[in-house]
Amino acid sequence: MSFLKQINPFESAMKQFDKAASLLNLSKSQIAMIKEPRRITEVNLPVRMSDGSIRIFKGFRVQHSIVRGPAKGGIRFHPDVTVDEVKALAFWMTYKCAVVGVPFGGGKGGVVCDPAELTPTELENLSRRYFAEMSDIFGPDQDIPAPDVNTNPQIMCWMFDTYSMHKKQFLPAVITGKPLELGGSEGRSEATAQGMVFCVEEATEQLGLDLKKCTVAIQGFGNAGSFAAKLLKDDGAQIVAISDVTGAYYNPDGLDVEAALNTCRTNKNWLLKGFENKAKCEKLTDPMKLLELNVDILIPAALENQITEENAPHVKAKIIAECANGPVTPEADDILEKNNIFIIPDILCNAGGVTVSYLEWVQNRMGYYWRKDRINEELEHIMKKAFDQVLETSLKNKVNMRIAAFLLAIDRVTRAAELRGLYA
Ligand code: GLU
Repeated sequence: MSFLKQINPFESAMKQFDKAASLLNLSKSQIAMIKEPRRITEVNLPVRMSDGSIRIFKGFRVQHSIVRGPAKGGIRFHPDVTVDEVKALAFWMTYKCAVVGVPFGGGKGGVVCDPAELTPTELENLSRRYFAEMSDIFGPDQDIPAPDVNTNPQIMCWMFDTYSMHKKQFLPAVITGKPLELGGSEGRSEATAQGMVFCVEEATEQLGLDLKKCTVAIQGFGNAGSFAAKLLKDDGAQIVAISDVTGAYYNPDGLDVEAALNTCRTNKNWLLKGFENKAKCEKLTDPMKLLELNVDILIPAALENQITEENAPHVKAKIIAECANGPVTPEADDILEKNNIFIIPDILCNAGGVTVSYLEWVQNRMGYYWRKDRINEELEHIMKKAFDQVLETSLKNKVNMRIAAFLLAIDRVTRAAELRGLYA
């Protein structure tokens, strides 16, 4: 196991919370009400494999908070997923929803598996079994999952179908990130990246940079990373480096993003494998060096703990836009702040995904669907308002953008908890 995986994301999340909470003068009881997860469910899932054998997979769902609304957050399929990782991700969802003012709490799910090794039928069986085992804790007013790392609209459909069959009702609002044919929303696939782009537009303006002259490196080329490349390229920025599990690809004069997307379309499992033979670029010997390239904007769009105290001193970007959850450790945060790097923190930067999930849930409940223009208009308004509020809090309190985002969000969750009071 690599050094990166040994950093416990939940401990990092708790450090972030403590740092911001200490500036808010909260009482011990107030902190106790909003810091730790409300409920953790762990299941062993028996799944029939193609060879007839039965394999047991471990699954988790953490509901961190249900104070401001039903728990909300994606389900991650990954061989290394742990309960502490899911706890951290659920925690970040609570504060992400609060930063953008979306009326949800926070949750996250995880299944320990490598989807690339499963046949489509095995993947379907596993997805359905996970949802069936958890059908009592999920619900349109209880806990609403969505896609995350290695899960997609097809998996959301299998889960929605399983739930609807159990309840004997058509209940699309139990899950978001569905395809358009089955209650999905316009703009949901690109929402995380689009929300990030709205933040980056605000950040470049604030720092006096011209986005059209900016160079960009993106770590991760899944849903968030690939749409980030496309949308920023459309905005006039130059994408000089991209990466995924197959490696990091670099061209200081700019990469052909369309060729990268085509490579993924032709490869199995949406991978950049062989991209160096399809477009002008070099493959970096150490893919982690992408994070240290001399670029204006760095976008971590993969997993947690990528920028640590080890590599933070070598980061040269002016802006870090966190499309991933938890890509920067608290120790790295301090180093980057000293080096005057402007971080758009994950709970703000990647909140576009859950924001359009909220719009999808609203449309499901109305049974009426909006055009893409309307979705993008709502998203732009919500993201830019949240960015401005975080920036204002940061300047007013002389704290960085991450602490500012937590100050705002913790205050909102605390106030909601106070207003609700304690039952019994
Ligand atoms: N998985 C995404 C996130 O981390 C989206 C969650 C959602 O839409 O509920 O924000």
